[in-house]
Amino acid sequence: MRRKAKKVIKELLYTLIPGKALLQRVKVQNKVYLTFDDGPHGENTPRLLDALKEAGARATFFVVGKEVEKYPYLLQRIKDEGHLIGGHSWSHDKLPLLSFTKAWHEFIKTKKSIRKAIAIDTILYRPPFGWITVPMILYAVLGRMRLIMWSIDSNDDSTQSSMAIIERGREAKGGDIFLCHDDNSGIIEALPVLVKEWQSRGLKVCALDE
Ligand SMILES: [Zn+2]
Repeated sequence: MRRKAKKVIKELLYTLIPGKALLQRVKVQNKVYLTFDDGPHGENTPRLLDALKEAGARATFFVVGKEVEKYPYLLQRIKDEGHLIGGHSWSHDKLPLLSFTKAWHEFIKTKKSIRKAIAIDTILYRPPFGWITVPMILYAVLGRMRLIMWSIDSNDDSTQSSMAIIERGREAKGGDIFLCHDDNSGIIEALPVLVKEWQSRGLKVCALDE
């Protein structure tokens, strides 16, 4: 019983510790964690996957359920090429503005859509807009998922300039989680340059399970 209580507390703490805090805890010094939100995207995701394959890099894709339903073959490709997959809500709505039940469905339906498309049970979830609220923490505990934030935002959703994204990426150090989006074009050009730079600095570009 005591062991079970300890396990529950540990899981709760894991859920509460977002992104970088968790990684700093395990003292990751030589890895950058590349993450892509809001996909899969019909045009951009294949190009991002090509670039990652070319560079020998892995990433984590936090996908939106209704896009998974449109592009299940892209989710399959993400999995087949060795990347990690997490949930990012069903429709990317502002969950805190929805009723508790509606927001829970937004949360859990994504996990189910991933399971339906590629038969895996993801345990990672990034809340839309990075909004961690008390209900969100409860959803994560109920859904047995871990909330993952980021430590550096590429700002690719506010700039189309690949140069600005590269500049931002240059700030990354070991243990950082770098936020990008599938549906922004600036990252397509920036990605190969950034990955090369990180690798030349001795940083391995990883998914969140490494
Ligand atoms: Zn998003």
